[in-house]
Amino acid sequence: MSFAASLAQSIAGLNVAQQEAVNYLHGPCLVLAGAGSGKTRVITHKIGRLIQAGLKPEQVAAITFTNKAAAEMRERAKGLIGKSAQGVLICTFHALGVRMLRQDGAVLGLKPQFSILDSDDVTSILKDAGGSTDAATARQWQWTISLWKNQGLNAAQAEAQASDAQERALARIMARYEERLSAYQSVDFDDLIGLPLKLLRDHAEVRERWQTALRHVLVDEYQDTNATQYELLKLLVGERGRFTAVGDDDQSIYGWRGATLDNLKKLPEDFAALKVVKLEQNYRSTSAILRAANNVIGPNPKLYPKTLFSELGEGEPVRVIDCDNEEHEAERAVARIQSLRAGHGDSPHREWRDFAILYRANHQAKPFEKALRRAQIPYKVSGGQSFFDRAEVKDLCAWLRLMVNNDDDPAFMRAITSPKRGIGHATLAALGSFASSYKLSLFESLLSNSLGSVLSGKTLGSLQEFGRYVNDLEFRARHTVGAEPALTFLMDWLKDMGYEQHLYDAEDSEQVAAARWSNVIDFCEWMAQRCGGQIDDTAGVTTAAETKTLLEVVQTIALLSTISEREQDQNVVTLSTLHASKGLEWPHVVLAGCVEGLLPFKLDDEQGAGSDDLQLRLQEERRLMYVGITRAQRSLAVSWLRRRKKGRDYIAGVPSRFIAEMALDKSTVKEDPREKLRALRAEFAKRAAENEKTQADRPT
Ligand code: ATP
Ligand code: MG
Repeated sequence: MSFAASLAQSIAGLNVAQQEAVNYLHGPCLVLAGAGSGKTRVITHKIGRLIQAGLKPEQVAAITFTNKAAAEMRERAKGLIGKSAQGVLICTFHALGVRMLRQDGAVLGLKPQFSILDSDDVTSILKDAGGSTDAATARQWQWTISLWKNQGLNAAQAEAQASDAQERALARIMARYEERLSAYQSVDFDDLIGLPLKLLRDHAEVRERWQTALRHVLVDEYQDTNATQYELLKLLVGERGRFTAVGDDDQSIYGWRGATLDNLKKLPEDFAALKVVKLEQNYRSTSAILRAANNVIGPNPKLYPKTLFSELGEGEPVRVIDCDNEEHEAERAVARIQSLRAGHGDSPHREWRDFAILYRANHQAKPFEKALRRAQIPYKVSGGQSFFDRAEVKDLCAWLRLMVNNDDDPAFMRAITSPKRGIGHATLAALGSFASSYKLSLFESLLSNSLGSVLSGKTLGSLQEFGRYVNDLEFRARHTVGAEPALTFLMDWLKDMGYEQHLYDAEDSEQVAAARWSNVIDFCEWMAQRCGGQIDDTAGVTTAAETKTLLEVVQTIALLSTISEREQDQNVVTLSTLHASKGLEWPHVVLAGCVEGLLPFKLDDEQGAGSDDLQLRLQEERRLMYVGITRAQRSLAVSWLRRRKKGRDYIAGVPSRFIAEMALDKSTVKEDPREKLRALRAEFAKRAAENEKTQADRPT
């Protein structure tokens, strides 16, 4: 069948309201609907429909909330329209920002090789800018500055609207921070939205170019956009307003990071022609699960009243699992997974990928990881420590960043000390103050004739040696194209620096050093692959197949948070925070840690929070619970703890108020005792099979 015919058939499979949204091509459109009602599906189909209607793939952009969601959407779009999906710009707001700045940042004084700072870099620059040695204080500043930036405020505006002396002081630190960023030719994550916004707002010719280039912009998870993202969207689509936003106010869970539901309220005011489509059928969950979800969200004030029904049948009742403590909770979750996986009666055998364990906070993953390992069940943790947060990977990234952008001072500081090359703190401090008094980057200072007046000949020599080394590497990396040469370059370089030895010297345990070295190898292989000539989905951006130089690849890595983000569809159990589970679905879900203090998260500890604040936070926690419940397709269990750890102590656990709010049928909530028995049987069967195998493998 041709793609046109199969696309038409796919669209015919949508319900009437979905089709209405997909076929509305020439004006602003908002799809507002509850969880699992097929909003994301509308977006993928509409990408196809727009291209069928005559737009070139490059003229369509779809914005997702995470890189992972972008990768998934690209797959779906490819299934619908084939190869031309590769030309569609499917990415996050941040990745779109990178693209805009690389292309047009020069008008803002940004070199195309600018660096993107990660959160640790930002903390250390802020320490420096604010004259503090305390990381916790700097992180608090970081938090507030980020909120200001997301509200579209610059340092001067933040100072003008500051409510007390402390805020005014912080606004001045922000000003110094901004100065440093521009000196370093660096941007932080918030700038990836803020600067493109400035670009479009202040430069009409750039704005017109982008508005002509993008003829339709689709936005998923619209409820979690922040004020600057909305402004950026408005400038991208212009007055014609050819866009499609889909969202659910009941799933807005990033208020704490500056997302605002005002963006939903503003749409009809800002775009009078806005077409609003509501979807009411949930295609994901059974009625039992959906009822629990609707009951939980019930007490929240209604911005847009919605009804949601399912035709998937009543299904298994939602279970409540009482647990003694965290370890017990993990054991019971694992037993449940084993039992369901084995299948019985009319429920089929399941794959590991059909299961997810969701929780409120990252640290809750640990007991589950241990229990899953014990049971030899493969799993992945999403939203946990990212590969790129590992010290050894950050070292290498710093070197690579410095090659791309010599003025990247944070990268300079890291590279010059990893591995150590006999250049001490005093030297670096002297270099730093020289650089700031002459308004030069650290690297530029190395080239300055007057540096000799503040440093001894020997120290100066080793600094300049470092500078030459970086330039030399840069030259070679610029001319290294394709996977093989890139890997050779990287391995030669590491050998030359003695990086492996450096890891072994730095670690007491050989095992740890070996693990770190193996991360380094993984990283190099991964980088090399990206020079290769296949599809580039870095940072969620699709480009045509091509080979790249190593330096070009370096410019794209800052946005990817985990290598495994692209290892899709592994057959493993998912452990995930509720925040990271947004938009996803699994046949069987365990929602763990449903106790007061965890979910809802400690509402009472916040000092100085007024009761209005508390109400708002409770409402956001409730939406988080709603998101969690609605990830489940066929079965859902919520577990709570009689005793839970708090710091080093144990305290009594109180079942989450949300469990009561689910209004489950008392006679069915307790977990089916037969399930435990089935889990035991499954376990015995597995052991027996393993025994047999070891017997068989034994040499005779
Ligand atoms: P969320 O609010 O969680 O992001 P959503 O509204 O984006 O959910 P989707 O993920 O698009 O919902 O769809 C939920 C599930 O229902 C998916 O498995 C999807 O394939 C399926 N689905 C959506 N629309 C239809 C339809 N018209 N017919 C059959 N299945 C559908
Ligand atoms: Mg969705």
